[in-house]
Amino acid sequence: AVGTEDLTAWLRRFAESVHEQRDRLTALDAAIGDADHGANMDRGMTAVVATLDESPPADAAALLKKTGATLVSKVGGASGPLYGTLFLRMAGAAGDGDLDDAAFARALRAGLDGVVARGRAEPGDKTMVDALGPACDALDAAVEAGKPLADALAAAADAAAQGRDATVPMVARKGRASYLGERSAGHQDPGATSTALLVEAAAATLG
Ligand code: ADP
Ligand code: MG
Ligand code: MG
Repeated sequence: AVGTEDLTAWLRRFAESVHEQRDRLTALDAAIGDADHGANMDRGMTAVVATLDESPPADAAALLKKTGATLVSKVGGASGPLYGTLFLRMAGAAGDGDLDDAAFARALRAGLDGVVARGRAEPGDKTMVDALGPACDALDAAVEAGKPLADALAAAADAAAQGRDATVPMVARKGRASYLGERSAGHQDPGATSTALLVEAAAATLG
């Protein structure tokens, strides 16, 4: 099962990898956006870790809610509301207490649904949805097949990485990159890249 300590470890690991990859995320955003995705995510996740350290939430839902609210308030641009919504919707789906494997998979899917409801991106639009969607599909399939959570999350991380790589040839239809039209093709999407780090961090810390 996934409890508050597990979720805290996940978010810490994500914060670390975002910090390590900050320049890379910014360089990707410089090519097709406004060169702030690394700074945005690093600022947001640094604030999340500080908040969790300062006042550790009592349960999984409270932790996810705090994370989402912190990202909404600390990160501007597209990614703040979108990542914020992901965690707020996860919180809404979490119920009380720890999450079993199927509940974690359901919560992540609820997060994806929230991102889609908020940003209206479809698969193939060259956004974070192109990493998170395949990750949720792989996670659901593996959990339904009875795989242990660690294996299911490893499959989800592979799917997210493939989804991230698949954004390279895509033409952006949402967000700043869409202003470039055809010229956005040939570049990896920054949000799909940070989302792959999020799922990779889950595989490294949960299950
Ligand atoms: P901004 O573009 O406002 O500067 P960021 O650079 O932090 O914000 O985030 C850009 C990322 O946000 C993109 O690479 C893309 O993955 C994601 N994104 C932008 N618009 C949308 C949308 N409508 N739906 C889903 N993801 C989106
Ligand atoms: Mg940007
Ligand atoms: Mg910006």
